Amino acid sequence: MRGPTEAFKSAHPTCVQAPHKVVPWIQSVRGFASGVFAWVPMWEIAQTLPGARAFHCAMDRLHPRAKEPRIAAAAMGGGNLLLAALPSVERRRLIARGELVELTSGDVICEQGERISHVYFPIYSFVSLLSSMDESSRLEVGLVGAEGMLGISLMLGVDIAPGRALVQGTGSAVRLGAEQFSRELVQSPGLEQTLKQYLYIVMSQLARTAACTRFHVIEARLARWLLMTRDRAHSNDFYLTHEVAASMLGVRREGITESASALQRRKLIRYKRGNVTVLDGPGLEAAACKCYSAATQIYARFMKYRGCYC
Ligand SMILES: [Zn+2]
Repeated sequence: MRGPTEAFKSAHPTCVQAPHKVVPWIQSVRGFASGVFAWVPMWEIAQTLPGARAFHCAMDRLHPRAKEPRIAAAAMGGGNLLLAALPSVERRRLIARGELVELTSGDVICEQGERISHVYFPIYSFVSLLSSMDESSRLEVGLVGAEGMLGISLMLGVDIAPGRALVQGTGSAVRLGAEQFSRELVQSPGLEQTLKQYLYIVMSQLARTAACTRFHVIEARLARWLLMTRDRAHSNDFYLTHEVAASMLGVRREGITESASALQRRKLIRYKRGNVTVLDGPGLEAAACKCYSAATQIYARFMKYRGCYC
């Protein structure tokens, strides 16, 4: 069975991101289609029908093999860089055993101290990792998007979440059960090696974040955080309130207002009613503390990737 064409994927991005969303009428044809059309080139049929997106999404329910190329297309096309770094045999096997899910901004995937039930490889979604002292004192210690994964402590044999995982950006992710992931680690040396390198990157990010919070000024930290968010949102436009930024950076709301105004006066960003637009990426990088470029370089060195992730 062939995968979707590029034109179809670009016309139906949500379908690629959320193939589990199916309209009811499609489900009613499941028995007929699974029996008769199981080996018919579904992609071509789907592209010609009214309501093609729903039909396309329904293919995951109709025939389990149909989901594999679609998850692969999302993981590679968009895509999660850790999955993309795996040997193809291991990547195909892991993708076949995972599922594509939609994460929604504001959702809490797990709380600090809870058991980790799943690992996530974000594609278009991104998630904040928050460390809390108490209910009112939280600090973001990591931001995970398509460059990383959630649940990396399972690599160490620990299934307790070290912090709260809060979805910041709505979008898709590949998800595996924790036990399935642990089995994959045993039989996938490429996965184990890739995630060991990623674990080092996470450790260096945590160390850098601690020093950044102590030594760098709010405006530079805000610029860094906006760049990190831009990279993981795959867009220069994203939504952000002062309250969220303040809690992410562990500062007062007034500090964010002042710093955002300064960046806006320098024409580096536009900020209106929570909508942020990065107007001058290189200028914002120059305004950010060195932690942004340092983290990008570490990621590039160990993951052999030259993009803008920290
Ligand atoms: Zn810094």
